[in-house]
Amino acid sequence: MSDEPVPPRKHGFETLAIHAGQEPDPTAGAVTVPIYQTSTFAQEAVGKHKGYEYARTGNPTRTALETCLAALEGGAWGLAFASGMAATDAVAHLLSSGDHVVMADDIYGGTYRLFARVFDRVGIELSAVDMRDPANVRAALTRSTKLVWMESPTNPMLKIVDIAAVAAVARDAGALAVVDNTFASPYLQQPLGMGADLVLHSTTKYIGGHSDVVGGALIGNDADLRDRLAFIQNAAGGVPGPFDSWLVLRGAKTLAVRMERHSDNAQAIAEWLAQHEKVARVNYPGLPTHEGHDVARRQMRSFGGMLSFELKGGEAAAMRAVSRTRIFALAESLGGVESLIEVPLAMTHGSVKGTKLAPPAGLVRLSVGIESVDDLVTDLAQAID
Ligand SMILES: *Cc1c(COP(=O)(O)O)cnc(C)c1O
Repeated sequence: MSDEPVPPRKHGFETLAIHAGQEPDPTAGAVTVPIYQTSTFAQEAVGKHKGYEYARTGNPTRTALETCLAALEGGAWGLAFASGMAATDAVAHLLSSGDHVVMADDIYGGTYRLFARVFDRVGIELSAVDMRDPANVRAALTRSTKLVWMESPTNPMLKIVDIAAVAAVARDAGALAVVDNTFASPYLQQPLGMGADLVLHSTTKYIGGHSDVVGGALIGNDADLRDRLAFIQNAAGGVPGPFDSWLVLRGAKTLAVRMERHSDNAQAIAEWLAQHEKVARVNYPGLPTHEGHDVARRQMRSFGGMLSFELKGGEAAAMRAVSRTRIFALAESLGGVESLIEVPLAMTHGSVKGTKLAPPAGLVRLSVGIESVDDLVTDLAQAID
């Protein structure tokens, strides 16, 4: 193997996941990127160094992760953060008092909370709209709109947003189109190729994939945008440590094979739930009856591991079911190899309770893991009965 780096885009996704940014280490030939557990880097003379000075500004383990994530999203650059919210916070810091943001109306609760309850105090205006119809986004635009924030599939209702159509509306308005691509992962969906300016990930979820690390990332193409965000990343300091960067990078190597199984398992469970007599409604874009199915087919490779459903018995039946599963763990978060179950309104989405963004009280959300699908169905069957 030569020392030539793997050129992004020339290789398939699976190859990039394992090799982009991850050339054997020049010091000892380590095949795996070392954990550069250091806060500072020695200089030969003042300002003469190998590209690293202080580890908040840059660390080689983090650089490897940023290079890999950029390659996976088909972007020119990536920036890694300490959490998905730290990445969101960096984007929000692009804004000034009086600027306006349009976001999807069933967005990740923490994203809504940051804009509605932290950045409102510095005068940033917010509109939440149903983005399934791009006309709603156009109608919400003002002269001050600087940011259009999408999620698809959305959390927890699994609505599908036509990313290319909404990105075009944003571009016409001169606003940045941001896609939180956490639910789909870059393996299933690559928003930059659909006209988005910026992709955000909570790498805590599918990219990390093993429920053992919290992290976030931003990926884009525009060099000026990279400079502004890298400045904020360094100035505000919400960076991941070297070990966390390494864990996310290790997770990314198997993203493709994990996503295939997540999608297969979730599809089978969605179909099983849809025909169950105690189930009132299933939200999964892989069902042909889902109203966003055609758009999802167009913009996603497969439909992912997340689904939500309502039982005919409503909230009481939901609370009972989630306390009875044995393989599905009752827990917040998503995207790991193990299956999780939760009631969004009482757990992940508590911050939108009482607002128009609140999901139904009896909604149950599943993060379908990569266990044997027969075991997962059996577990749900005994929990619902
Ligand atoms: C978890 C999550 C976030 C926030 O990420 P953290 O890593 O928890 O800070 C943002 N968006 C979505 C869709 C998420 O699921």
